[in-house]
Amino acid sequence: MAKITLDNLAHSYNPNPASEADFALKELNHVWADGEAYALLGSSGCGKSTLLNIISGLLMPSQGRILFDDVDVTQASTADRNIAQVFQFPVVYDTMTVRDNLAFPLKNRGASASYIAQRVQQIGAMIGMEAELDMRARGLTADAKQKISLGRGMVREDVNALLFDEPLTVIDPHMKWELRTQLKSLHHEFGHTMIYVTHDQTEALTFADKVVVMYDGRVVQIGTPEELFEKPQHTFVGYFIGSPGMNVIPAKVEQNIATVHGASVPLAQSYDGLNGKVELGVRPEFVSLTEGEGLPVKVRRVEDVGRHKIVRAELFGNDINIVEAEGTSISPDMNRVTFDPQKVNVYVNDWLKEGEAA
Ligand code: ADP
Ligand code: MG
Repeated sequence: MAKITLDNLAHSYNPNPASEADFALKELNHVWADGEAYALLGSSGCGKSTLLNIISGLLMPSQGRILFDDVDVTQASTADRNIAQVFQFPVVYDTMTVRDNLAFPLKNRGASASYIAQRVQQIGAMIGMEAELDMRARGLTADAKQKISLGRGMVREDVNALLFDEPLTVIDPHMKWELRTQLKSLHHEFGHTMIYVTHDQTEALTFADKVVVMYDGRVVQIGTPEELFEKPQHTFVGYFIGSPGMNVIPAKVEQNIATVHGASVPLAQSYDGLNGKVELGVRPEFVSLTEGEGLPVKVRRVEDVGRHKIVRAELFGNDINIVEAEGTSISPDMNRVTFDPQKVNVYVNDWLKEGEAA
């Protein structure tokens, strides 16, 4: 197991980067705690694989250092870092049986035959392929190959860290859930440091202790699912996490009063001299539809999604989403909204601004 330190790390695929825009990974300083399960979450192209490959040693960063437990491994190979990595596109030996594919990393390390037999059986069960262990990989379906690849990543107990790069993309949702549960139990059992890359918030939030949210080559927030929900540090986090995501509303803010198109919105905190693009961030869960109180909205439609209702509305020409409890009846007279002042975040140039107690 290892604590992983990213020290002044950055990467450009361009050998002569001219500006920050040339960096696929912008400068990053962070310590990833030993034995924690992290999810690396962000949209396609934001730099997740770049960061993962730098941690595993497949890619040499153009700037900075990586330390495992305070030992500089920046120049060390993947093998020397003692890492298991599972890729989005499964690497499976077609001519070998499933059993031999799973046994491969253990044989490579010279494990005993009896240990290999027992461990492969165990992993075969975890990925739900006990019945197929003696089949050749050739001819198996794409999702079976992805499971084999995942199993091979999990087979060694003695790794420093386990890295997964979108490992379950072609697997159906139910099996996905099951495999993720297996990964979590493996994590509890062995306490490996795990990093799981995904663009799917549900996967990230259900798998990880800490979610690392990336946007445009930057880590914009590292936090527990609750922290990402309550206090998004960046408007992207608010928008990307939650369904629907946080409402972002242009405003002026002076002390503990925000003004949206001339209408006042009370805030729980007080802010002084904000410069730049000022916005309010409020999650749909903390917006209430009312009659006669608050800001005027035009309700466009109401979606009943079982546990609650999502109201899609328009606020001064911009979209706003409101979540109401399942039992709430929504009448045509409800044409205003109020926000829970405690839950209104203020953003300046997309970054969260903390105010003073009002
Ligand atoms: P993600 O895994 O989040 O989808 P990547 O880390 O693969 O993102 O890519 C981040 C950025 O770096 C993208 O703009 C991508 O086009 C670019 N990129 C990735 N790999 C290479 C490469 N080998 N050479 C040049 N550019 C690359
Ligand atoms: Mg990727």
